[in-house]
Amino acid sequence: MPPLPELPPVHRVPAFADNYIWLFEYEPGTVAAVDPGDAAPVLAFVERRGLAISHILNTHWHPDHVGGNRAIKAASGCTVVGPAREADRIPGIDRAVDAGDGVMLGAHEARVLFVGGHTAGHIAYHVPSARALFSGDTLFAMGCGRLFEGTPDDMFQSLARLAALPPETRVFCAHEYTLANACFAVTVEPGNAALAARYAAVQEARRRNEPTVPFALAEELATNPFVRAGSPARLGEIRRAKDAFQPA
Ligand code: ZN
Ligand code: FE
Repeated sequence: MPPLPELPPVHRVPAFADNYIWLFEYEPGTVAAVDPGDAAPVLAFVERRGLAISHILNTHWHPDHVGGNRAIKAASGCTVVGPAREADRIPGIDRAVDAGDGVMLGAHEARVLFVGGHTAGHIAYHVPSARALFSGDTLFAMGCGRLFEGTPDDMFQSLARLAALPPETRVFCAHEYTLANACFAVTVEPGNAALAARYAAVQEARRRNEPTVPFALAEELATNPFVRAGSPARLGEIRRAKDAFQPA
C-alpha cells in the first residue's frame, strides 16, 4: 500500500477564554496565522519554535479574530488577508479576498468561500491539499455561529457550502464551544445515536482537558443539527432555541 501523503502541521495556539488561533505551517518553518485575536501568544509560540509568519488570514472582523493583526504585522512584516466585504474593519489589511479567490501559501492554495451569516462578510479558507478548512465562527463542532449580521437563510447557504466539501476535511474552527454545543444538540436530536456517542466522547475529552478541534467534516454531517436542519426556517428555529438555551 502506498503511504498516506503527509499533511502539513497546523499548530493550535489557545487565546482568551476559548479561542483557538491556528498556525498553518505550509512549508517547514513558515506559517500562516488564522484569526489571531491576540498577538502575544502567537509571537511567543513562533519565537519558541523558530517559525516565521508570512501571512495572517482573517475570517471576519470581530476583535477576538483580528485584535493581534497590527502587532503581528509589525513584528513579522507579514501580509494580512481578509474578507473584502468587511475590509474596512480588518486592521492592517493588505489583500481583500472574496468567494473564488485563492491565496497561494507555498505549494498550497487556500480557497476562499463566502459564508455570511455570523457577520455579513464572513469568509472561510479551504486548503484541499492539506484537507483543512478554517471555518472561523461559521461552522463549529455540532454548532454554528450566532446570527449577528445575517439571516437564517444566509447561514443555511453558508453551511450548505461547507457541507459540500470532502467529508474527510479537517475543520479548524475558532472556538472550543464543542461541549456546550453537544449539550444543546442532543435536545434537538434525541434519537441520533451518532450524536449521543459523540456527546459522550466530547464530555470525556473535556474532562481530561483535551481540545476537541479539529474534527472531521463527516462528523458534522452526522451530528450537527444546524448542518442537518434541512431548511432555512428550521435552522432559524434551532438557532433561536440555542440562543435561549441554558444547560442543565
Ligand atoms: Zn465572531
Ligand atoms: Fe469569535
